Amino acid sequence: MKAGAPDKFIVKGKRLDGRKIDELRPIKIKAGVIKSADGSAYLEMGETTVLVAVRGPREVIPRHLAMPDKAYLNCVYDMMSFATPERNRPGPSRRSTEISKVMKDALSPAIFLEKYPKTKIDIYAEITNANAGTRCAAITAASVALADAGIEMKDIVASIGVGKAGGKLMLDLFEPEDNFGEADVPIAIMPRTEEITLLQMDGDLSKDELKKLIAIGKKACKEIYKKQKQALKKKFETEKEAKK
Ligand code: ADP
Repeated sequence: MKAGAPDKFIVKGKRLDGRKIDELRPIKIKAGVIKSADGSAYLEMGETTVLVAVRGPREVIPRHLAMPDKAYLNCVYDMMSFATPERNRPGPSRRSTEISKVMKDALSPAIFLEKYPKTKIDIYAEITNANAGTRCAAITAASVALADAGIEMKDIVASIGVGKAGGKLMLDLFEPEDNFGEADVPIAIMPRTEEITLLQMDGDLSKDELKKLIAIGKKACKEIYKKQKQALKKKFETEKEAKK
């Protein structure tokens, strides 16, 4: 067992934070939180918090990155130095480079990039507090920020971490489960078609367990999707009221 691992992941039928195995952490999503951005969102999933800004579609600099047939999508994932209990070194790292790419791959299939040729769309995701599932939180919030920016999309991407800890399949792992459990599987889907745009796996799972986790993840993404749509609706209703 790794140092710092809890003795058990389930006590009296409940997880260490009191949740059931198929329960999400409380989610809060707010669209349109950064004035200077074209679109933005703030998201909380339990103690994991993220702020996302979208800029674009706009001129591509450097120009050679411009593509004649579609927009160039640039994703930047970053974790603030105060986001973890021990100071985390800000700026690019292997991990942030990987997650930036993962975000781009998870979001690209949902965006009509071909509608914005020769332009660039920038997505900046800042993790302000990390307690597992930060890539999923960043993808879910980025999707809301893209819609807030008015960028045309096939669907809003929703994402969640599922996995296994203490021999149990679980929804929405928090830090001890993610760090010391047997496996974690971040998943993202386009909820309307259930098309998977992100599927990673770290740890050991049987084929049957993975299938079950994908089903659990898809169901949860549909719940998250409702909250994403509510956040956008609220933002646009507030704007409409203000214009009256
Ligand atoms: P994700 O955040 O998408 O689950 P990881 O599996 O890389 O991605 O990280 C799991 C969790 O481990 C993070 O959410 C965070 O709580 C913690 N963590 C990651 N990197 C660091 C770090 N440099 N310092 C402290 N904690 C970290």
